[in-house]
Amino acid sequence: MNISHIEHIGIAVENLEDAIKYYENVLGMTCYSIEEVVDQKVKTAFFLVGNTKIELLESTSPDGPIGKFIEKKGQGIHHIAFAVNNATDALKLAEKRGVALIDKESRKGAEGLNIGFLHPKSTLGVLTELCSKE
Ligand code: ZN
Repeated sequence: MNISHIEHIGIAVENLEDAIKYYENVLGMTCYSIEEVVDQKVKTAFFLVGNTKIELLESTSPDGPIGKFIEKKGQGIHHIAFAVNNATDALKLAEKRGVALIDKESRKGAEGLNIGFLHPKSTLGVLTELCSKE
């Protein structure tokens, strides 16, 4: 699998603008990118903390994955993303090791990374993303 570090932590928020204010004004971080990922129905904001990013996620539609998450659980940590050499290979290896996959193949995520999700039923309840640059 070859995980090198935590690439980012994904946090579901109701309002991206308000959330950015908290991270900037209270925690003193700087948002360096805002990006919409249309097929995931989210708007994202990124902050860099050392080698790891914070990815804030606001749903652009109530029926998107983040919209549904917030409806069920409220705002909070949504997923953890590990950096790997090759997301496609890592997904295949996870499947071989008995993990249920949300994404059978890697796809393009925010920041142009190749990403894929493992199903939380196989990962002790933590929605887990694997991502690589390639
Ligand atoms: Zn993510």
